[in-house]
Amino acid sequence: MTEKHDDMTTKNTPMDAGPRHLVRLRLTITGQVQGVGFRPFVYRTAREAGLTGAVWNDPSGVVIEVQGPEHVARNFPDLLLDRLPPLARITSLEVGEAEPVAREEGFVIATSSSGQGHSVLISPETATCADCVAEIMDPCDRRHRYPFTNCTNCGPRYTITRRIPYDRDKTSMACFPMCPACQAEYDDPMDRRFHAQPNACPRCGPRVWLAGQKGDVLARNDDALLETANLLARGAVLAVKGLGGFHLACDAGDPEAVDALRSRKNRRDKPLAVMVPDLRTARRLARVSRAEAELLTGHVRPIVLLKAEGDSPLAPAVAPDTDYIGVMLPYTPLHHVLLADFARAASGEIPALVMTSGNLSADPICLGNREALDRLSGIADAWLLHDRDILIRTDDSVVRVLPETGRTQFLRRARGYTPSPVFLAQDGPCVLGTGPELKNTLCVTKKDQAFVSQHIGDMENPATLGFFAEIAAHLPMILETGPQLVVHDLHPDYLTTRWAGSQANLPTKALQHHFAHIHAVLAENRHLGPVLGLALDGTGYGGDGTIWGGEFLVVDNQTLEHDRAGHLAHVRLPGGEAAIREPWRIAQAFLHDLGIRNGPWPWLEDFGQASRVVSQMLDKGINSPPTSSCGRLFDAVAAMLGLADTITYEGQAAIRLEHAQDTSVTDAYPLKSRKAGPMLVADTHELFAMIHGDVLNNVPARTIARRFHLGLARGLAEAAAGLAADRGLATVALSGGCLLNLTLATELPRLLGKAGLNVLTHRHLPPGDGCISLGQAAWGRRFLAAHRA
Ligand SMILES: [Zn+2]
Ligand SMILES: [Zn+2]
Repeated sequence: MTEKHDDMTTKNTPMDAGPRHLVRLRLTITGQVQGVGFRPFVYRTAREAGLTGAVWNDPSGVVIEVQGPEHVARNFPDLLLDRLPPLARITSLEVGEAEPVAREEGFVIATSSSGQGHSVLISPETATCADCVAEIMDPCDRRHRYPFTNCTNCGPRYTITRRIPYDRDKTSMACFPMCPACQAEYDDPMDRRFHAQPNACPRCGPRVWLAGQKGDVLARNDDALLETANLLARGAVLAVKGLGGFHLACDAGDPEAVDALRSRKNRRDKPLAVMVPDLRTARRLARVSRAEAELLTGHVRPIVLLKAEGDSPLAPAVAPDTDYIGVMLPYTPLHHVLLADFARAASGEIPALVMTSGNLSADPICLGNREALDRLSGIADAWLLHDRDILIRTDDSVVRVLPETGRTQFLRRARGYTPSPVFLAQDGPCVLGTGPELKNTLCVTKKDQAFVSQHIGDMENPATLGFFAEIAAHLPMILETGPQLVVHDLHPDYLTTRWAGSQANLPTKALQHHFAHIHAVLAENRHLGPVLGLALDGTGYGGDGTIWGGEFLVVDNQTLEHDRAGHLAHVRLPGGEAAIREPWRIAQAFLHDLGIRNGPWPWLEDFGQASRVVSQMLDKGINSPPTSSCGRLFDAVAAMLGLADTITYEGQAAIRLEHAQDTSVTDAYPLKSRKAGPMLVADTHELFAMIHGDVLNNVPARTIARRFHLGLARGLAEAAAGLAADRGLATVALSGGCLLNLTLATELPRLLGKAGLNVLTHRHLPPGDGCISLGQAAWGRRFLAAHRA
């Protein structure tokens, strides 16, 4: 809000200002004010207040002129702010005086010319609002059970928008001409569907049908929905076309159905999200705090990780490694109808559906009907399809509430959040960050806003690179901007690095992965100046022949000073990538370094021969790159405890290790740091030796797991506090995938805060690699600024 506005509204209105004294004000508003019912809202508010004037879009945002008695007109900005429509987000509001217009009658919504530069943002997808849910559940309503019901307060936006400005003819609704009833709603400023671009009804809008393996139609419209619910209740796996792509669905209470889905999708252990019809059902799976309930029932409706309690009515295979379960509530009318039907059809204990991304493990989520029939054949038994095209694929977002602070932590930021921007501290040039290799997102900045894309996926195959290129073209287009610089990872062979190099006439710069992590936290917190960054991560190319991932980094985003001040001790990864899939190799590397060559190790029974080969690799130093990764330390400890010899998804060993903790244990292993030249090195070998000793002494794994977590947090906090004091730094920034570990995510800020340090953590993006593109772009802007000055 500008100060100007505050001055205006706090000023007392003189009592002698009579009703005949007309004032005309001009309000300029920027933010998320397009496609959210903002202009009709302004219209209704002005009419109710008895003011005349007009509202229209222009390149600087939404402009409103209101005219009336001074005290009424001057109160108007407050009136707007008090009653904003649920989806509107105002980023600035300026109020100025305008010349009163003689004999003005009424208030109008003026037509906006298209093709203007836009300070108005496309809104993200929004969960079906209560009014629309009431209509689809009402047998007398013309939209009873209609799966594409929406209004200006809810429905699809980003995923159906081809170009801006956001108008029906530029969305995938262009091919559905409205029937007279829908058109009348669309044209009526007092209607909830005034200018609702995706407005539709069963007469004129998109339709659903159920298709078999060969694309043959099994049922249409309402019958298709009923039959889908019946098939699910009988244990089938269905591909369901949704808002941002396809889901694979099955009965979450049916162990055979869940096993079938897992084996066909080739996804062995990674937790599956479930959808339940309502909050009451969610509470049967987990204790739900107030903050969690707000996320579950809010207008985004992400997947929320909840801590399961008691005996779960879900099939054990839904989330075998953890007692956290990903739960979401219906967010489209189709989901509302489907879940209600399924609750009636299912004989099981709880009406919960597994709803997982409809893709093969490494590919992006499916988007088109043909694509889904083709790529999901062999996985799905039937397909619930519809004819509203998804133009931009977007996965479900995943969040959780941190217990101590009540803050929302992102695990994946996509549907419902994209393309809302992250607000930066300063204006700057447009820069594109290409993001990391795994869990890729990309980022485009415009002025003081950074637009981080939805989760794109692992950049390992042409399909994902295609999706990446699509978004890299789409995002600048809808923002009406063009990058002046592309920032990519330091790794020369990443697909994103090569893509950056292929962009004709665009300068490129490389930024190391973990420095990008720290720049992302700084950008989200709008922090300018030097910090000590702790990047606790999986693995990232270091550029010095080692793989980084447990780093103490001095980062200054004003002077762009970058200094690696310390790291976790190196351990080798025998077999390189193979060691990431088989954590026992890293445990063996630790023991090898400690001179422990023989032992009753948990993995010998399964990997005896391979273990001997690993031993030789370590002796001869073959294919065993050194790493300082914190994630690999978690892996090694989990393997040492027999919790994870091998893993089937990223983070699995650490998830099991965290889950294993006996939280009543309060003592910790020491993690000491020593100076090695100018570098501080945290001695993880000594810590590992103590773990090995406790394993030999039959100390329970639960106790060891707890001592490890606490020791790591305390050792890192001590080392950070020491380094910060040495360097005269007051602020510590935390980033990296290891901060998805709840123990580290709560203990580290607490301990660092206790040491008198100001702690910065992620607010709008995940601490994992989903934040890298923001860090790259934010750094790139500083780089351009520094080299232009
Ligand atoms: Zn609605
Ligand atoms: Zn209609």
